[in-house]
Amino acid sequence: MSVHLEHKESEPLTIKSLNTENPRWCVGCGDFGILMGLKRFMVDNQFIPHETVNVSGIGCSGRTPNYINTYGVHAIHGRPITVALGLALARSDLNIFIESGDGDALSIGGNHLIHGINKNFNCVFLLFDNELYALTKAQTSPTTRKGHPTYTQPRGTYLDPLNPIALVLGIGASFVASTTDWMPDHLASTMSAAFKHKGFSFVHISQRCPHYDAEAFDYKTTGWFSFLTHENGIPPDKRLADKTEVIVHDPMNLEMAFKYAASPRRHFGLFYCDPNKPCYDEILRWERDKAEKKPRSKLLDHFQI
Ligand code: SF4
Repeated sequence: MSVHLEHKESEPLTIKSLNTENPRWCVGCGDFGILMGLKRFMVDNQFIPHETVNVSGIGCSGRTPNYINTYGVHAIHGRPITVALGLALARSDLNIFIESGDGDALSIGGNHLIHGINKNFNCVFLLFDNELYALTKAQTSPTTRKGHPTYTQPRGTYLDPLNPIALVLGIGASFVASTTDWMPDHLASTMSAAFKHKGFSFVHISQRCPHYDAEAFDYKTTGWFSFLTHENGIPPDKRLADKTEVIVHDPMNLEMAFKYAASPRRHFGLFYCDPNKPCYDEILRWERDKAEKKPRSKLLDHFQI
């Protein structure tokens, strides 16, 4: 668990006051862009660090809570959602961000992702998808592209990659967006939309890992992706909007969201949003508040054999 919190509430929050130690990521790693996006978002909204928690699993992305001056939990592999759900149930006032990688969230933690999404508790879930296990030196992850050589499958992976966006749409996610680490403007708009949404906001981030797979994303060109936009969605990246296709997509349209998710072409923007899906944390708090107060001894009577 990381606790820094040297910021004085009387002073405005700055990037500097959110800094902790120097990140131990490789030069050019996309995690730097995501970390900076998160800090900028907190500064723009003048978050109070002690009301904010970053929770991560294991992997390169798992280091994120160590590098941001809020409360933080570097949880065990695939389990950040469990920790975050407990926090959300106990403290509705907290701003909860979860950082998880493609291996952490879609393999080891896949079952937790399903139930976190189904419970729709209030948090922003950031999926750092670099399409391999990087911390353990380039093993095949659920999103590794077919045929790509990895440490575990040096002749190339055998299976088609799992599609995280189609997966979470299928589970019933109430907010599904996609962005990248190299589009700061689009990343900021995506974080803002995700934070405003009440419920489990799933944000897929295409994240560069130059150390193990420099070719995963052709981040210097734009011909391979489109932006999804709408008055209730996320604006296209200002710098790149006139360099590629921009599609108007109503984020209430689940059928079209699936179509874009299944397309071989990448789409960045808001795929889907349902602002009316019930939130489990809210329901449980409501149940707790209206429950009859009983002495602890009476509560335990039911469990006596
Ligand atoms: Fe980033 Fe890849 Fe280095 Fe991990 S191994 S810090 S993901 S560049």
